[in-house]
Amino acid sequence: MEYRLGLDIGSTTSKVVLLDEDGVCHFRQIQPTGLDGRETATSLWKEALANWHEESPRGRIVATGYGRCRVPFAHQILSEITCHARGAFAERPDIRTVIDIGGQDAKVIRLGPGGRVEDFAMNDRCAAGTGSFFDAIVRRFGLSFERLSTLYEQRPKPLDISSTCVVFAESEIVGLLAEGHAMEEILAGVHRAVAQRIVALVRQARGIPPFLLSGGVALNETLRQELSALLEAPVDQASYPQFTAAYGAALLAGE
Ligand code: ADP
Repeated sequence: MEYRLGLDIGSTTSKVVLLDEDGVCHFRQIQPTGLDGRETATSLWKEALANWHEESPRGRIVATGYGRCRVPFAHQILSEITCHARGAFAERPDIRTVIDIGGQDAKVIRLGPGGRVEDFAMNDRCAAGTGSFFDAIVRRFGLSFERLSTLYEQRPKPLDISSTCVVFAESEIVGLLAEGHAMEEILAGVHRAVAQRIVALVRQARGIPPFLLSGGVALNETLRQELSALLEAPVDQASYPQFTAAYGAALLAGE
């Protein structure tokens, strides 16, 4: 039996998914992309094939993601839009719009019949509305993703965060803390500001429900709930949100 390998070399993390011809997953792994996407891709490839049951493995490899051109051994290189759409449609054929929020970009992909890409919008220019906005705030204020994700449980009232630039947002937060505002209310404001940016992208792609949220930021439950509230529709988390594009790439390797 041949394998189907999908490699998603993202700006922040790289993922591999190994499927067999029947689409059964044999291995998935994630690691930081680091400075050398080519080396990361090679190590993920080797690790995946060490988990394949045949001694002389035969199969096809599709690479995607920001660093997709750093995979010289790939049989095919495909865009993240194509791979995300494929992965999301395979998981949830009812989904009409995929919202992917990664480390340095955010994408909204509207799907039509058969999972065809009907429209998409992307932000890869500005940290606001991507994982790096949260990363900077987590680093600057010594927080954890766990604290962000569970914030919704306390139902804090979001404060207005007017700065869209992360550097200015950090100063604004310092100012709000100095005025005595609670960190929870500030963080709720940060989530609302990021969610508003994503909603603008959803409108640009004329996204419609049902929505599926993928990418590392999909692990942030507070943001998922904020998006649902602003879009007035359920936004479901993909089952392995960071692997949607790698899964789609692996499926496309066999098509
Ligand atoms: P890439 O763009 O490289 O594909 P990912 O989809 O893996 O990136 O997303 C990386 C981002 O996911 C990080 O920048 C971080 O903000 C976010 N993230 C990672 N783990 C968590 C978590 N447990 N909770 C909330 N956010 C997370």
